[in-house]
Amino acid sequence: MTELNPTLTPSEEPLTYCEVHPDRETALRCNKCGRLMCAECAVPTPVGYRCKQCVRQVESTFFNATQRDDVIVAVVAGLAGALLGGLEKAIGLPLLFAVLLGLPAGGAIAEVALRAIQRRRSRYSPQIVAAAVVIGGLAGALLVTYIRLSGIARGGAVPLNILAQSIISDLGLLLFVGLAAAACYGRFKLRS
Ligand SMILES: [Zn+2]
Ligand SMILES: [Zn+2]
Repeated sequence: MTELNPTLTPSEEPLTYCEVHPDRETALRCNKCGRLMCAECAVPTPVGYRCKQCVRQVESTFFNATQRDDVIVAVVAGLAGALLGGLEKAIGLPLLFAVLLGLPAGGAIAEVALRAIQRRRSRYSPQIVAAAVVIGGLAGALLVTYIRLSGIARGGAVPLNILAQSIISDLGLLLFVGLAAAACYGRFKLRS
């Protein structure tokens, strides 16, 4: 890859203009394809200024996941979320611990999910992983609550409203699951 110097050239050079906006004078070039671009067209990236086309191209090679990968992410993150959500409900973590452990729990789920898909991601995998953690986490907690309540009810039916109430009123669980989902979302947004 050739790295063109993006700094301005001295004024003796003939004037050059943005390739998209011919009325705008510029000497800034995309450091990948070399096209001239104005401040509006230039996209700052960790490797220097690039044109929008080149950024899009890199994005589409970055988003290399198949639909199968998205499904794997949903299943893995959902199951891991269910495990941790159920565990949180079973232990009944104090609020402070639920908050402190939410982000690292999400980080761990994200790592497991990323390994399962060999770090291939799609444009939507951050949303998918976050949704899976929320749904899985709440489902896991519901299951634990159901098992506990049906033990008390001795085989009798557990009223749905009591079941729902025990989830909605559990601030520690909601924060734990929410933070875990946020951590997963953030981790999947990162390009590594
Ligand atoms: Zn370019
Ligand atoms: Zn322009």
